Amino acid sequence: MRQLELGGYRVTHDAESPRGEIAIVNTCGFIGDAKEESINMILQMCQRKTQGTLKHLYVMGCLSERYLHELIAEIPEVDRFFGKFDYNGILGELGVNYRNESANERVLTTPAHYAYVKISEGCDRRCAYCAIPIITGHHVSRPMEDILNEVSQLVAQGVNEFQVIAQELTYYGMDLYQERKIAELIERMVAIPGVEWIRLHYAYPTDFPIDLLRVMRENPNVCNYLDIALQHISDSQLSLMHRHITSQQTYQLIETLRREVPGIHLRTTFMVGFPGETEEDFAKLLDFVAWARFERMGAFAYSHEDGTYSAMHYADDVPEDVKQARLDKLMRLQQRISGEIQEEKVGRVLRVIIDRLEGDYYIGRSEFDSPEVDPEVLIPCNGIKPVEIGSFVWVQIERADEFDLYGHIITPNE
Ligand code: SF4
Repeated sequence: MRQLELGGYRVTHDAESPRGEIAIVNTCGFIGDAKEESINMILQMCQRKTQGTLKHLYVMGCLSERYLHELIAEIPEVDRFFGKFDYNGILGELGVNYRNESANERVLTTPAHYAYVKISEGCDRRCAYCAIPIITGHHVSRPMEDILNEVSQLVAQGVNEFQVIAQELTYYGMDLYQERKIAELIERMVAIPGVEWIRLHYAYPTDFPIDLLRVMRENPNVCNYLDIALQHISDSQLSLMHRHITSQQTYQLIETLRREVPGIHLRTTFMVGFPGETEEDFAKLLDFVAWARFERMGAFAYSHEDGTYSAMHYADDVPEDVKQARLDKLMRLQQRISGEIQEEKVGRVLRVIIDRLEGDYYIGRSEFDSPEVDPEVLIPCNGIKPVEIGSFVWVQIERADEFDLYGHIITPNE
């Protein structure tokens, strides 16, 4: 987006009410739901083109990379499809030359006070069910100096919260520096003045870099939050999934995380209905979730993805109604746990970043809440001094409902 801007275009990102004469749809091709959402957006744009409100329509991203030929044949209204990393292709199509010197400059599609910073692309793991390595290829770490430079530029733009993301965060540095460098990277990010919060998304449990936990514990601006997908707990399922970790090691890791970073909030993901999952496997998963008491959890039902090991070698043998019933049961258990955890926050004072004003409430998040996916903190705005969006306040939590917390500001704004 920044490169297009430098080439003279005005660029906006608004999927709800798109404007402009040229649309570029960036797609995801990871699982069925994401593919469907991408296709729906393309078709919506095709309609605008047919109606004459849009002159050119381009599609890029993972879905385009993965199903290029099928998409060209099926959706002729699209002017051109580009692969996931074909930035030069799309710039060339629009008459813009790539400027290397501006490679780390960004146009944010998030609110101005937070940003996602991607530290690597691709993944060298080969989880049996996962299409990501097929689409994005091997793990490629970005040079540390580039990332730090980007963070400094974003701070200068007004960003104070950083969601550090990668398909496999803990592998950062292995390809480029022949060692795990995530702890060093975060420690150097923390030292950049203006970086208020750093949040870590998508860690992998096997060979977890324990020194990262020290960095989290010692630095108040690294959120006590870790998103670590575990997928299952039964040894046979973990082995079939090619996760290279055992049930016992997983239990130990959770203990270590909770011991080394007191108060850490863990977000995880599980998969139910993977080939061969028995009632006994599923019962182990329920026991584990009840024991671990994850603060946040997502779950989804397995489906074959083209080209993956499990699609090629295993039968999708858990009936759909069983998958759904397991998913519902797991989510009901988690709902109870996260409800209890939310309730425990009543009476506490939390540092909250204000994301937006909506109706009668300022809506914010604590260090335990990532944007889009986690609960929010709602603060009635009537009768209080206006609060700047993107600023931090201290909030006394008064009550909790199933998802969100409610409270009032107890200090002058920071
Ligand atoms: S670690 Fe994550 S991205 Fe990599 S193959 Fe496994 S599930 Fe896919």
